[in-house]
Amino acid sequence: MFNIAEYIFKKMSKVRVRFAPSPTGFFHIGSARTALFNWLYARHTGGMFVLRIEDTDDERNRQEYLDVLEDGMRWLGLDWDEGPEVGGGYGPYFQSQRADIYRKYLDILRSKGRAYDKDGAVFFKVSGKKQVLHDAVYGDVERTEEKDFPIFRSNGTPVFHFVNVVDDICMEISHVIRGQDHLTNTNKHIELFEAFDAPVPQYAHIPLILKSQGQGKMSKRDRGALIEEYQQKLFLPEAVRNYLCLLGWNPKNDAEIMPIEEIIRLFDFRGIIKSNARFDERKMAHFNTEYLRALAPGKFDALARRRAQEAGIALPSDAKYVDSVFELCQPKTSNMETFPALVGYFFSDDYAFDDVALSKVQKKGDPAERLKLVRPIIEKVPFDHDSLYAALSELAEGRGEKPTDYFPAIRFAVSGQSGGADLFPMLEILGREKVLGRIDRAIERLQ
Ligand code: GLU
Repeated sequence: MFNIAEYIFKKMSKVRVRFAPSPTGFFHIGSARTALFNWLYARHTGGMFVLRIEDTDDERNRQEYLDVLEDGMRWLGLDWDEGPEVGGGYGPYFQSQRADIYRKYLDILRSKGRAYDKDGAVFFKVSGKKQVLHDAVYGDVERTEEKDFPIFRSNGTPVFHFVNVVDDICMEISHVIRGQDHLTNTNKHIELFEAFDAPVPQYAHIPLILKSQGQGKMSKRDRGALIEEYQQKLFLPEAVRNYLCLLGWNPKNDAEIMPIEEIIRLFDFRGIIKSNARFDERKMAHFNTEYLRALAPGKFDALARRRAQEAGIALPSDAKYVDSVFELCQPKTSNMETFPALVGYFFSDDYAFDDVALSKVQKKGDPAERLKLVRPIIEKVPFDHDSLYAALSELAEGRGEKPTDYFPAIRFAVSGQSGGADLFPMLEILGREKVLGRIDRAIERLQ
């Protein structure tokens, strides 16, 4: 909904940041983190977040990459204020549609004697003076560009340095937040800004993301590198986003799992860490588990239904039964990929007996023998937690054992597993009849 107060706030803020991807590959975690930091800064300052597509490389651009990128950004909740689809006053937002603007800017350089033709290409004439980049994260970086560099290739297409700067000027970009791999380009960019007599934006380069093990930058081939993977595995976008916030930024209060509103409030350049950030797959998975467990039941239910159906589980029409299973299993869910295995036995009698689970259960005594002793209790005692527990305690006591000695066998008989949902609520949901049938079958199979 249009919010006038928010609109005025944004108009008043001088901050304009942009995410400027080249759609030449799938949406990588490093790109997503760059988009995220720009978005956070815009939301923190009340500024504008622009999405600009740097699609000048005709041979490597693909529509599919752009679709995946936009879809991934939406999934992560990184809404852009200007750019493809939403428009804005500084378009077009595709570099491929800005050829006229680039020509005009080339003419400006020519008129100032700062561009010349050579071997069919157009070169920029550097000033030869020392340039100092004041980077908000890396501090001052001094460099003298000694050599003129091409700004148009001999085939007439403009070069990255040139279009990047022209667009930042035209779009009145105030802060450039981008990967540290661009740090070495930036003095060239400052040369161009000065040649146009345009103000140089505040730069903030953000650290590289290293692969989880070994040396080097995380590449698109590394596991967990593409946002699509998380979408397919039904990770919660809030969890992925929260984890990405901490790849190179630190709120300095040791907090990790935080609502996005809190991160927006705290996010600034001082919290950006200079040293490279290492991707940790297990930590990402842990964030996802925490978010899944904290998810509002209605939302979890929708996700659980989707995943169950996808895995071929036939859910009964009895919504109360389904809801109670999902409610019981939510706290035990670590990810949606393995969720079907966690709940499958609630919806089918045809579940497997897990070998590893069985050998664990056998450590507590012969399961078939235990089940034979338990059977009369299941058959006769009122089917609720307190009555069942009391009866099992009595049985165990009479034999110099503990009631918990009987739990693993019962659990294994009704689920084929050695862990999962809490035992008594599980039994109550399944109901006496089903539990009894399963115990009988298990006795037969196990003896
Ligand atoms: N298209 C460039 C990239 O994807 C943008 C660099 C920048 O943000 O200035 O690396």
